[in-house]
Amino acid sequence: MTEKENALKNIYTAGIKYVSDKENIEAEKFMENIVNGKTVILHNKNRDKFVGIGKDLTTKINASIGTSTNHINLGEEIRKAVIAEKSGADTLMELSVGGDLDLIRREVIGNTSLPVGTVPLYQAFREAIDTYKNPVKMPEELVLEVIEKQCADGVSFMAIHSGLNMMSLERLKKQSYRYAGLVSKGGAYMIAWMLENNKENPLYERFEDVLKILKKYDTVLSLGNGLRAGATADSFDRAYMQELLINCELCDIARDYGVQVIVEGPGHIPIDEIEANVKIQKKMSGDAPFYVLGPLVTDVAAGYDHISSAIGGALSSSFGADFLCYVTPAEHLGLPSEEDVAIGVKSAKIAAHIGDMIKLKKTGDDLNISKARRNIDWESQFKYSIDPEYSKSIFKSKNSDETAGCSMCGEFCAPLRVKKYFKYEIKYGKKA
Ligand code: SF4
Repeated sequence: MTEKENALKNIYTAGIKYVSDKENIEAEKFMENIVNGKTVILHNKNRDKFVGIGKDLTTKINASIGTSTNHINLGEEIRKAVIAEKSGADTLMELSVGGDLDLIRREVIGNTSLPVGTVPLYQAFREAIDTYKNPVKMPEELVLEVIEKQCADGVSFMAIHSGLNMMSLERLKKQSYRYAGLVSKGGAYMIAWMLENNKENPLYERFEDVLKILKKYDTVLSLGNGLRAGATADSFDRAYMQELLINCELCDIARDYGVQVIVEGPGHIPIDEIEANVKIQKKMSGDAPFYVLGPLVTDVAAGYDHISSAIGGALSSSFGADFLCYVTPAEHLGLPSEEDVAIGVKSAKIAAHIGDMIKLKKTGDDLNISKARRNIDWESQFKYSIDPEYSKSIFKSKNSDETAGCSMCGEFCAPLRVKKYFKYEIKYGKKA
């Protein structure tokens, strides 16, 4: 049975216990959110590790790794998986398109305790290229076979582009403009398949077959965003809105079927549209967990897109987005290195925390570190920082005395200068 079916029967599962303990949320309330489709539980079946995503839970972050057709190195991908987990990612997406895809996926799943997600269309098109020398020759049945194979390997969640159907394609054709065209690999390849074969997307037409497989393994469905904008100027266009609308309809069907479901969002979006983006998705989907890819709030930050996406991710989370896909400094430029993965995860972690400060009022660490700064308590400053090891290493490389201020201001350290004049026990009626 899926977590949703168990929750419906009021069965207290290991996943419910794990997540409600970890997030300090009442189990009954958590189960109610699962029943209503507002929360999902992802599970790495090999390690008994669970991750909750959705209402009343902290914002989670995903790190995407995987080979390209130009660069295939299994050892490197495994190291990226390990680095992403160590840096604080909550989930991994294994998105390889080059090499032995079954082997890479199984090795990555075997080397992480994080729930692992995939985009099964990548493997289906890869196999069609290998067998028929042409992705548009992909047999419909192959997509379902790939989904089943990946579920059986222990994949926890899958981005599935079912909302990209003839209706959304029609909107794209009719609007006839887009600055950045199409940027989703799965979306672009599926559109080519639909146009060449003059057929409906099998992931839409055979949606119930997809659900049947996902339900059997309790793999979480992440309704993909194949028409997402790749330019801030393209955000909220009619094609994107049509696909979102269909995804929200499919979200209801999946819930009724007993499958846990997430809805995906952009992409590139100007900062002043983020609030509306989150609210529209939440309202149309009945508060389904919202997974945003970044989002990137400018198109000019190549080399620094982890910063652009952290700004978009922080705002999205503060307005209610539940799950952020990291972006690395290599975005738009090349395959991320191991260092890029670490930087991407840490940037997304900061974004998630900033969002949770507003969404969940989680400000305890901010208060602790602020008091530690006031008191020149370096150990506490490291302890409550987002990356204790890194902040400590910077301090140690530039200072020798832990009882004084740092080399930034030297003897002009402000808190040290005024320490003796203030007791700070009571501030505005509250203990500080
Ligand atoms: S020296 Fe300056 S930067 Fe360093 S702790 Fe003191 S006030 Fe802060």
